[in-house]
Amino acid sequence: MKCGFVALIGQPNVGKSTLMNHLLGQKISITSRKPQTTRHRIVGINTTDQGQIIYVDTPGMHATEKRVLNRYLNRTANTVLLDVDVVVWLIDDLQWQDYDKQIVQKLSEAQLPVILAVNKVDKIKNKTQLLAFFKQALEFYPFEQIIPISALKKTNLPQLEQQILQLLPEQDYIYPEDQITDRSQRFLAAEIIREKLTRRLGAELPYALTVEIERYEVSETITRVYAIIWVERDGQKTIVIGSKGELLKKIGIDSRLDIEKLIDHKVYLQLWVKVKSGWSNNERALQNLGFFHLE
Ligand code: GDP
Ligand code: MG
Repeated sequence: MKCGFVALIGQPNVGKSTLMNHLLGQKISITSRKPQTTRHRIVGINTTDQGQIIYVDTPGMHATEKRVLNRYLNRTANTVLLDVDVVVWLIDDLQWQDYDKQIVQKLSEAQLPVILAVNKVDKIKNKTQLLAFFKQALEFYPFEQIIPISALKKTNLPQLEQQILQLLPEQDYIYPEDQITDRSQRFLAAEIIREKLTRRLGAELPYALTVEIERYEVSETITRVYAIIWVERDGQKTIVIGSKGELLKKIGIDSRLDIEKLIDHKVYLQLWVKVKSGWSNNERALQNLGFFHLE
């Protein structure tokens, strides 16, 4: 039996979360057009009759480490590489950036089998361009496999899964067969709220915004979720609430419906927007919000 850990790495916005959601057939990682929507490491588990693939969705590796928050994101991405069996490197652009050389450096150090998945091929009109790139890619790094996919249209995903399985070690399943994530419902609820904020606010989304689930109470008939949306300034609070509270209300409705779908239970959701100045640059505050040290 095959079983092991797979890291999904790649630049923000290449489609890591979309890929994982489709591979798992369920929404456990939020997606959006804006980079940096995934801040936590999320494990998604796919058990088939051929084996168990445990996916790790990384927040991406960030070039700048100016703020403490960015350092946390980097640390998570780097540590992920130390405890996986296979790496799937997602790209969506047929050229290498300076930045990619840093990734190659890290991959060589880790000495792990790497599958290069060229995503968003639904957008590539000229397929000969793709073939030329494949050849060139093997000169860039000795990939085990190079596979064109579309995470969005689900093109070649079964093939990708097969390649991954082949590279996994023979061992017993680590998780029960029906488990799809190790994340709590509480955590997933916070992720859903953050996704709705991202979608509704677009470019206006404050960089330093986070969602904290203050209370999560499950009774027989209803699940009550009390969440705080933390921002850094009063002006950001005004933006999130919207005129006459309209925006926050919509975000609340969208979130509640998605959480209900996820947990298959009636949900009461209460959202608060609060200001905590400088939290993104404060180690202690980050730890309280769940950005724990992995090192
Ligand atoms: P992440 O930051 O790497 O997790 O990226 P996301 O999964 O959040 O995706 C970023 C954006 O790219 C979203 O708007 C996705 O819908 C889009 N996207 C992801 N995969 C594909 C794909 O195969 N084709 C196209 N056209 N868009 C994609
Ligand atoms: Mg993501």
